Amino acid sequence: MRIRLGNKLLYYLLYQETQMNLARNPKAYPIPKVELDPTLDFGKYQEDVERFTKKFSGNFTESQVNGMICNLNSLKILEENYLRIPKTNEISLAVYDNGSNRIILKFYEDLDVSHRLQDTLSHELLHMASTRGTNCGVVTGMEIPRVIGVNLNEGYTNYLATKYFSTTEKYRNTTDPKTIIAKGIENIVGAKKMEEHYFEGDLKGLIEDLESVAPRREIIRLLFAIDHFNTPLPSHIKYVDILEEIAKLNKKKLDRMLVEGSISEQQYQEELVTKVILYRKQKLISEEAMIVGDNDHFIIIDGNFQSKLYDAKPRKQDLPKEYKK
Ligand SMILES: [Zn+2]
Repeated sequence: MRIRLGNKLLYYLLYQETQMNLARNPKAYPIPKVELDPTLDFGKYQEDVERFTKKFSGNFTESQVNGMICNLNSLKILEENYLRIPKTNEISLAVYDNGSNRIILKFYEDLDVSHRLQDTLSHELLHMASTRGTNCGVVTGMEIPRVIGVNLNEGYTNYLATKYFSTTEKYRNTTDPKTIIAKGIENIVGAKKMEEHYFEGDLKGLIEDLESVAPRREIIRLLFAIDHFNTPLPSHIKYVDILEEIAKLNKKKLDRMLVEGSISEQQYQEELVTKVILYRKQKLISEEAMIVGDNDHFIIIDGNFQSKLYDAKPRKQDLPKEYKK
């Protein structure tokens, strides 16, 4: 493992906390069959939401669609208006609050983001669709809030938004590190499995899948690095090291598949290029989404805001009857 951590104590504590959370065996409650509420009205966003639900229904499984509809039926879309963009590098265009099941779209008077609205909304609607009531509280995607998986979950949300919902070519070309990292992890476990874990809020399932290529300790260390490579605290965690680690795990998997005979020599060579060699060069191309280029620094960021909102208690009336206790 090339990812070094200066603060061993910090990592030790995080590892223990992650293990403790996983030992609680978080599992999403089954969602009863629901119908889309025909009276739903999202005002001027109605068309965008309809476009999203249509594409979603065409690309995901029946139970994933059912989960999405269940949450959509009680979703609220709100707007916040600001005079100026904040004086930071990160500009949040929207936020999803899983406690109250609300999407808040942000508008700045000195910034025209109307051309991004649909992509922003798709991203937030994916957070909504991947929110589940579990025996450990409300969970959104593959993360233990404030502990681990936050950046991976954010990157994978971006990736899915690009792959299935992007409306313009610009958003299919991204250099967002989190998105590229998430695609790399998906390469290891496969798209169907990764989507399953994402929509079931099942970080544990993802870690168990990844244990086929590395011990749990190394996987948790990698997830920790993904969460912290762009923060000032352990600044020696480098993006290139994370890409190298992901390339290494993908190569391990491909080598094994070749030995087992589940892929041909030609397939092996092709996959080696897209999943290993291009990752090492930080130039990633996949059949669904071209991830290459150097524009678009302006990315949707809401992870930081979301974690603060986790304190909000879920309102019982938003959950199906089965969850009300
Ligand atoms: Zn997000």
